[in-house]
Amino acid sequence: MYICAIGNQKGGVGKTTTTHNLGVFLARKGKRVLLVDLDACGLEPQKIEKTVFDVLSGALSIAEARRPLEDKLDLLPANIRLAEAEMAFAGRIGRENLLKKALVSVAADYDYILLDCPPSLGLITVNALNAANGLLIPVQVEYYALAGLALIRQTVSMVRELNPGLAILGLVLTFFDSRKTLNKDVAAALSDEWGEAIFSSRIRDNVSLAEAPSNGQDVYRYRKNSYGAKDYAALAEEFLKRTEG
Ligand code: ADP
Ligand code: MG
Repeated sequence: MYICAIGNQKGGVGKTTTTHNLGVFLARKGKRVLLVDLDACGLEPQKIEKTVFDVLSGALSIAEARRPLEDKLDLLPANIRLAEAEMAFAGRIGRENLLKKALVSVAADYDYILLDCPPSLGLITVNALNAANGLLIPVQVEYYALAGLALIRQTVSMVRELNPGLAILGLVLTFFDSRKTLNKDVAAALSDEWGEAIFSSRIRDNVSLAEAPSNGQDVYRYRKNSYGAKDYAALAEEFLKRTEG
């Protein structure tokens, strides 16, 4: 079983989109997958009663709060209460371990657990990194991307004191548009600094990826021949190779 945090403190870079669609393609390849919404406005916007907040607070087990999305794919949802979590758990002993402990009970049920992190490096993200084997970082190819990555590196170093096994699984470039010179320049600069850590599958800027969630769908279900579906299928292949081999 492999636990992957999908994180970047910057919002709007494709964390939620990557979590959902990567999860869908892994499940289509026969893997048993749990998605954990730690973002609270990502996967499943409807009002939900039983959530990850209840799991972190110890009121519910994951088995009680998760729900099936499709064959081999489950979701542990969130609602707006998750925003209280930083405050609610601030004074607790072991507050960095809440998610890691909760996940133990479902470890045998899944091949992959994907953690959709919020756009911050606060307690929830620290919980995700502490529980994870690896961190996948979606990076929107833009001028400030490099500076933001330095901060993530620092956070990973800090969390390694709690979770020495934490790896940076890789960077995935999102919203990629090869017609834009800036995209090429930033991609080259990222490649100088991060080299092989960057997944060779890039996620292109694709309208189907933006439209699918408003239809309550993943991109494969929404438009299976779109660039978005093709790119996430390729990413899933590469992700499997990196995490299995
Ligand atoms: P984050 O979780 O990092 O805040 P999201 O995954 O929610 O980012 O993506 C932000 C917005 O951009 C969403 O509306 C999403 O549907 C859209 N989006 C994500 N990836 C792409 C892409 N490659 N091309 C076009 N739109 C995208
Ligand atoms: Mg998100």
